Amino acid sequence: MATTGELFSAAVIMREYSYCVYSRFSVGAAIEAVNDDGDRRVFTGCNVENSSFGGTICAERTAAVKAVSAGYTTFLAAAVSGGIAGEEEKSDTFPCGICLQFMAEFAAPDMRIILKSGTYRFDELFPNKFSL
Ligand SMILES: [Zn+2]
Repeated sequence: MATTGELFSAAVIMREYSYCVYSRFSVGAAIEAVNDDGDRRVFTGCNVENSSFGGTICAERTAAVKAVSAGYTTFLAAAVSGGIAGEEEKSDTFPCGICLQFMAEFAAPDMRIILKSGTYRFDELFPNKFSL
């Protein structure tokens, strides 16, 4: 199991891969997930912007899509780091609403969100997900 520090460090490193030529705001994410066999793995992602802004994807969803497409569909924790590209993170970068809804689909009951200043329970940040 990855520690809180290991996950957050992975998110910080991922900021270096951010493609944020429009916003200049780089974000990195690291999600620890488990598959049906009980294997745990960390998936990382960064924000990837596009000139058609609607095609832009956040770091959290990049990592989430990598996890789910590899069969890791239960998320235990997600770390997020963000800030002006090339600068240290100054304050917490919270997941946006779309990413919270997206991750809610796969969130373990005790999933944690790890930010610069500390750790939150997922359902503390997003208590009511949309569901069919
Ligand atoms: Zn987002």
